[in-house]
Amino acid sequence: MPEGPEIKREADKIAAAIAGKRTRDVFFAFPHLQQFNTRLTGERVTSVEARGKALLTSFGNGLTIYSHNQLYGKWMIVKAGRLPDTTRQLRLAIHNERKSALLYSASDIEVLTSEELEKHPFLRNLGPDILNENVTPVQVLERLQSQTFHRRRITALLLDQRFLAGLGNYLRSEVMFKAGINPQARPMDCSEEMLTALADAIVNLTVQSYQTAGITNDLARVEALKSMGQPRRNYRFYAFARKGLPCYDCGEKIVKIDAGSRRLYYCPSCQG
Ligand SMILES: [Zn+2]
Repeated sequence: MPEGPEIKREADKIAAAIAGKRTRDVFFAFPHLQQFNTRLTGERVTSVEARGKALLTSFGNGLTIYSHNQLYGKWMIVKAGRLPDTTRQLRLAIHNERKSALLYSASDIEVLTSEELEKHPFLRNLGPDILNENVTPVQVLERLQSQTFHRRRITALLLDQRFLAGLGNYLRSEVMFKAGINPQARPMDCSEEMLTALADAIVNLTVQSYQTAGITNDLARVEALKSMGQPRRNYRFYAFARKGLPCYDCGEKIVKIDAGSRRLYYCPSCQG
């Protein structure tokens, strides 16, 4: 499943095609949403934003389309009216004079008033969104040390969207490696210095991944590996998906374990 950085890049692409423009036609495939075909046609799209792993497309008349891709949903941007050749089910189409933003296969689509948006069960329970709310490392540190979260395993916290919105499985391994955190650790087991390093890594690697389309490794190292002709899979991550390969910092082999039914990669020496 895509994580915060990938979803925000997708939101940027959709925004470039439809934000600020009036729709020429809006189409919902689900019968219970078809009443909105005409209500959203001719309206201006005011913004397209990611919230955690959901996408919010807002209109001048105060309505917002909430969509969550889950595992199967896929957005495609095409020239106006040129539907791509695909066997996927078209679920939502937003057309303007120049472009069409098409959502295929997703089943989690709603149209909400601003009041309903505030009360939405998924959105209401989301923690701060690093990429969309300019969350600082100090705020993340406070959250790590809070009564609500400080007794829980860090491996679990980092996948819990109530803790922070948008973090996912590759970012979990990467920020824990960067901060040197053991997979068993809870915030209450860590020194203030370690938690500060973790908070910094959470914010900085999420932002870096957004800016670089998914690269979390040290950028100077990435340049060196690229100049040696290495493919992306060999320089993208510090630890994730590098089972059995030498740690970049100490040479020890990276280990893969299961943490909360999701794979986690770490260095037993640097994260001992
Ligand atoms: Zn190491």
